[in-house]
Amino acid sequence: MQNIISDPDQARKHDSGKERKLIGDRGDYFLNRMQGETGVNVSACYQCERCTNACPVSHFMDIKPHQAIRYVQLGWREDLLKSSTIWMCLSCEMCTTYCPNEVDVTEIINHLRNMAAHSSITPKEKSLAVFHQTFLEVLQTSGRVNEFRLMNAYYSKPDILKERVKQGILIEDLLLGMTLLRKGRLKLFTPKSRAIKEIKRVYSQTRGEIV
Ligand code: SF4
Ligand code: SF4
Repeated sequence: MQNIISDPDQARKHDSGKERKLIGDRGDYFLNRMQGETGVNVSACYQCERCTNACPVSHFMDIKPHQAIRYVQLGWREDLLKSSTIWMCLSCEMCTTYCPNEVDVTEIINHLRNMAAHSSITPKEKSLAVFHQTFLEVLQTSGRVNEFRLMNAYYSKPDILKERVKQGILIEDLLLGMTLLRKGRLKLFTPKSRAIKEIKRVYSQTRGEIV
């Protein structure tokens, strides 16, 4: 267990002066807001770390799942929205499953990710953030996610193509796409979902979020 965030006195010292001033006494406000919007009882967390131990990608995260929950309790919104954690999370729900206090860690991280996507904060994992945004855009135009359209839209975003070339994974992506096409696993067209109106309504509600 990391005392730096479990002990409130140490936690206050850890927080940078500038950020602390910005957040001020809004810690409770952020906690209450998160609990109200997600229905998750974040206050029930007692930092046992079982969520982090169960998480398959926690070692790639700058803020571990149990720490993210502690940050919410402390109102450290900025740190959370700037973290790699919210983009690394696979939404696999292992953390939630293993929590002895039924704290829905996955829901909290999903909510933070949406908050970050609608804020002006520059995401730490830019390409993942762009992918997330593109996924939502494709979803709201047809009510379904067609992988071919999704990848097309993703590669059309500024800098993504250049970045994939730089990382040396463009050829890998193309070969994978061709293999999937050949095996009939990649559809060029997908009909619109009949629930498109409902999906658009839900999407516009989430866009109305004030961060
Ligand atoms: S498993 Fe539950 S109680 Fe334990 S640290 Fe994670 S969220 Fe908190
Ligand atoms: S949902 Fe996210 S945080 Fe939870 S175990 Fe899976 S990857 Fe880790």
